[in-house]
Amino acid sequence: MVSTLPTLNTPPLTETNAVDHGLDAAALDHVWIHFSPWSEIANTAGPRVFVRGEGSTLWDTQGRSYVDVISGLWLVNAGHGRREIAEAMAAQASELAYAATTGFTTAPAAQLAHRLSALTPGDLNRVFFCSGGSEAVETALKIAKQVQAMRGFPKRYKIIARRGSYHGMTYGAMSLTALRNEAWFGPFMPGVFHVPHPNQYRSDFEATGEEADILAARYVEQEIINQGPESVAAVIGEPISSAAGLHVPSPGYWTLLREICDRHGVLLIADEVINGFGRTGAMFAIEHYGIVPDILTVAKGLSSGYAPIAAAIVRDEIFAIFQEQAATPLGHLLTFGGHPVSAAAALANLDIFARENLVAQSADKGSYLKTRLSALAEHPTVGDVRGLGLFCAVELVKYKANRTSFGKSSPFADRLNVELLQRGLITRVWDVLHVAPPLTTSIQEIDSIVDAIDEALTVTERAHAADFAA
Ligand code: PLP
Repeated sequence: MVSTLPTLNTPPLTETNAVDHGLDAAALDHVWIHFSPWSEIANTAGPRVFVRGEGSTLWDTQGRSYVDVISGLWLVNAGHGRREIAEAMAAQASELAYAATTGFTTAPAAQLAHRLSALTPGDLNRVFFCSGGSEAVETALKIAKQVQAMRGFPKRYKIIARRGSYHGMTYGAMSLTALRNEAWFGPFMPGVFHVPHPNQYRSDFEATGEEADILAARYVEQEIINQGPESVAAVIGEPISSAAGLHVPSPGYWTLLREICDRHGVLLIADEVINGFGRTGAMFAIEHYGIVPDILTVAKGLSSGYAPIAAAIVRDEIFAIFQEQAATPLGHLLTFGGHPVSAAAALANLDIFARENLVAQSADKGSYLKTRLSALAEHPTVGDVRGLGLFCAVELVKYKANRTSFGKSSPFADRLNVELLQRGLITRVWDVLHVAPPLTTSIQEIDSIVDAIDEALTVTERAHAADFAA
């Protein structure tokens, strides 16, 4: 397979930079790569097996270097190759690698929970640890349902989610998610209802500007009323949803959602699995909106990907029911929740955040990135450029005049992805092209990323001129 890998703009293989040792073949033969069709892995580029990372750069077995334009999967916020995180993990593993999560906790988990309660807005002070984003969402769902039942509303089991959002791939989380495949996995968790997403570019309500978002929020209230408020447990949404195309809602959207949930006794869950830890230029994206959700889910950037760790963090008033009914625990446990080595990684990661002011870096460099990306709007296939902080996206369109999308998958996007890879850029190109490098990225790196995207778009547009209206 190696011979079919693109070689454009990649360094020549030398004994010093190639470390294959049969790894590409092992990956091809035995690794079940997530969410990737076999054709993509076997017939085109082959699996890319990474061996090293530093800052925004990754190296593969063939000695080729790439810019990690999407920070892994929006998570290596502190950048690759941070020795101090690795050392903190090694020190913790030597001291105490594990202790039971039921009935006990560990020193790094206690420190991290304390730190998170200070970093999160309002009274989000109680932290239930888990290992990944999907688990955090499952946890939030279970907390919401059990809290409603303990408060005397056992019939409040329904969850309202937004169409186009992504909340993970375990069953409960997938039931909320845009990418759920009914034919393979249905039926899903009962009681999930999807509502329109805030979207000023292509509003479900044919509205523009803030009105499009306000109408989307009002629809949530209508859905609660239609379902019967006495049956609804929670509303869940990412403050800014990457999966739904990275539309940044206007401030009124989240303020209104908070008011609506309060009015109807419904809990509000903000899923910050991607948004959290500086990605949007604030520590948590919900801070841009000045509201406090009842439950906040976090993962990814909590450890910048150095170890699997995540959490569902709840307000004091949510946890209060477990203090009042003190003999009743949350019916949920995870063996690896708040693993001490992962917690140590998260603490070291947050030290870097504080010392290097990564959140401010994301805000500053993010506005530079967005300005540079905005110039790509001259391309006939670039319909919109959106984002906040180092969390940006370029929407690709077939017909700019009426904003017709290429759809989630298209030959145009596939070719663009290959062109980006050949220029050493790793990102995701579906209906939107994502640009979310580590928060440590430099202005020079941003310049070269945008230049390479510009060039890749030009080449793809030339090759696929029949696919869009110029
Ligand atoms: N929630 C959101 C908003 C996400 O973006 C993701 C993953 O990208 C998840 C949940 C699931 O996280 P994980 O893949 O760690 O299970």
